[in-house]
Amino acid sequence: MKRTEIRVAGLCLPVYSLNTLIIGSGAAALKAAVSLHQLGVSDIAIATDDWSGGTSRNAGSDKQTYYKLSLAGELSDSVVEMARDLCAGGSMHGDIALVEAANSLRVFFHLVELGVPFPHDGYGAYAGYKTDNDPRQRATSAGPLTSRLMCEALGREVRERKIPVFNKYEVIALLTRGIGKTKKIAGAIALDRKKLRAPSLGFVLFNAVNVVLGTGGPAGMYRESVYPTSQLGSHGMAFEAGAAAQNLTESQFGLASTKFRWNLSGTYQQVIPRYISTDRNGRDERQFLNEVFPDMGKLATAIFLKGYEWPFDPRKISGYGSSLIDLLVYRETVVRGRRVFLDFRRDPSGGGKLKDFSSGLLSKEAYTYLAKSKALLGTPIKRLARMNPLAIAVYKDNGIDLAKEPLEIALCAQHNNGGLKGNIWWESNLKHLFPVGEVNGSHGVRRPGGSALNSGQVGGWRAALFIARHYNRKPPALRDFLFQVRSTIEEKIAFAQKIIDPSLKDSSFLTRTRQEIQERMSAWGAAILRPEKVSHAVAEARTLLKKLQAEMRIRSAKELPAAFKNLDLCLTHALYLEAIREYIARGGKSRGSFLILEEKGRESCPGMGKEWRFSLNPPGSFVDRKILEISLGEKMRVIKKWVDVRPIPHKEGWFEQIWEDYRKGRAFEHPEENEP
Ligand SMILES: Cc1cc2nc3c(=O)[nH]c(=O)nc-3n(C[C@H](O)[C@H](O)[C@H](O)COP(=O)(O)OP(=O)(O)OC[C@H]3O[C@@H](n4cnc5c(N)ncnc54)[C@H](O)[C@@H]3O)c2cc1C
Repeated sequence: MKRTEIRVAGLCLPVYSLNTLIIGSGAAALKAAVSLHQLGVSDIAIATDDWSGGTSRNAGSDKQTYYKLSLAGELSDSVVEMARDLCAGGSMHGDIALVEAANSLRVFFHLVELGVPFPHDGYGAYAGYKTDNDPRQRATSAGPLTSRLMCEALGREVRERKIPVFNKYEVIALLTRGIGKTKKIAGAIALDRKKLRAPSLGFVLFNAVNVVLGTGGPAGMYRESVYPTSQLGSHGMAFEAGAAAQNLTESQFGLASTKFRWNLSGTYQQVIPRYISTDRNGRDERQFLNEVFPDMGKLATAIFLKGYEWPFDPRKISGYGSSLIDLLVYRETVVRGRRVFLDFRRDPSGGGKLKDFSSGLLSKEAYTYLAKSKALLGTPIKRLARMNPLAIAVYKDNGIDLAKEPLEIALCAQHNNGGLKGNIWWESNLKHLFPVGEVNGSHGVRRPGGSALNSGQVGGWRAALFIARHYNRKPPALRDFLFQVRSTIEEKIAFAQKIIDPSLKDSSFLTRTRQEIQERMSAWGAAILRPEKVSHAVAEARTLLKKLQAEMRIRSAKELPAAFKNLDLCLTHALYLEAIREYIARGGKSRGSFLILEEKGRESCPGMGKEWRFSLNPPGSFVDRKILEISLGEKMRVIKKWVDVRPIPHKEGWFEQIWEDYRKGRAFEHPEENEP
């Protein structure tokens, strides 16, 4: 990597020229960095806004899951079987699923070799368990903080390999060269957060052949969220550069605590806590689920099932299914304006309407589970202490004692299955850009739990392999770089200079904008959708974008990263809302992890009013046969395209043929597009 300085728009700016810039320091970005280095691509660097930030390092659950091909027991498994199961959730391309399955063991064992403590038995077999949307026992876990352990292991390797890290560098734009189909990545613009007060305003340029984008999910656009607060997302800059996205409608929502953001899946629900609501001031306590559930057996079993049916799923509402609980929590918090808590101190009671809880009322499955776990004990907290003491410790470490206080919860955004589009090498339509991890929308409508972490590792590896084979070359000369990207840099600098207004009294413009985006998404673009509101929300999002471009003002350069982030999130939420509008316009109904309210639909359950009716997509419907791609064209025109779902490729797999393809390098090409 070479450092030089250049003058642009009157400012003297540092330029780093290198082969590959990796943006982000989550599990996917770090995997890409380590793999590139292993493969001999050493002219690389990582730029991250916060080495300790992001989802992988700061999120988890009672048993955070990693999905891979089965490795133990007598259950048979195969790459094609796993690919089929990845595709079974709908709207996932078969070739991508095949790659995620075929490479799952390779990347899993890399983590094992690096010291991630995935458990094996005395014979060395890596036993698995069944996770959601998983017909086999492919899931494993290194505990509540699997993804953090992955980051720590990969981070150690980054340090050992002396891969340069630009910490506290906020990337605000991707630079491109060329137009149309020949458009490709040329580098990036970042703000060095430690130099914002310098005459350069912190601007730093990267002249790179490739960019690996590992910037995670679009967390910052939701108010109700279980993403860590450090994770905001940066899809907007990729849209602006011309990268296409897919399946943006498919996010996952579920019940999570809000004071300390944590998923309430697994044992937190299997111990059957009491769900209560209060008014805003903590008074008028009610066990609101009793209003709708007809008996305690059904209610307690639904709570138990929420443990492994964690994401909200409209298919699991009717018949007093586990997702009815999410819907009732939403009604209580959003519609009725009350607060909802999980109380582990006491068993649910019937309040005269239903029987009080006793284990004998549970379904056979739930009863057996608790009995086998030796957890048929007097209160939820005692059952939790028996089944999973670590689950209690996680809260204690974050100042919440589940034995003493109820836990406030909400229906929260957790993960985006969709995101930027990539090919089987994770390369975007924008050449030389490789979105990996959650920013890459490789998943479909539903995915097996744990497949996000597998996908991030496979994506990082595949991107590295492709770069090593095809794009391992020197960056362009500085003069050429500048010729291609000068106008974009000048534009960003001019914008930064324009918005700084030292006479401003406070930062309320920034705060209000962020709130507006989050409120709009949580109200009209999250788990519960109201068709009549979506078009209006799209229009409001576009208006806000124009307003920010024209009127945004900040007090000093210190606020530049937040200002650019608001612009990014604003563009991101506008496109997500556009995708939702298009999906509904094409006749799409409730699916995945969202419910579209529809008066003509069927009742959610007896006793829930007309306003909670909905329907599911009929088999073979247009939206289920296709994938919605969305991108920005000239003058910010939104381009929407419904493409066929690619099937899982069927190859005979004749060894001699594969060997020849491998020797001749054909195994490292993209089947359709071969770029010089
Ligand atoms: C509560 C919770 C529980 C989960 N449980 C599971 C599970 O059990 N199994 C599973 O498979 N998945 C799970 N997920 C999802 C999974 O954890 C994430 O999808 C995954 O960790 C994302 O990894 P990543 O590397 O793509 O991004 P992240 O880990 O989010 O990293 C993104 C990185 O990019 C940086 N960054 C972002 N923008 C910029 C910018 N402009 N400039 C510089 N740096 C930037 C961030 O600081 C961060 O370092 C869970 C998610 C949550 C929230």
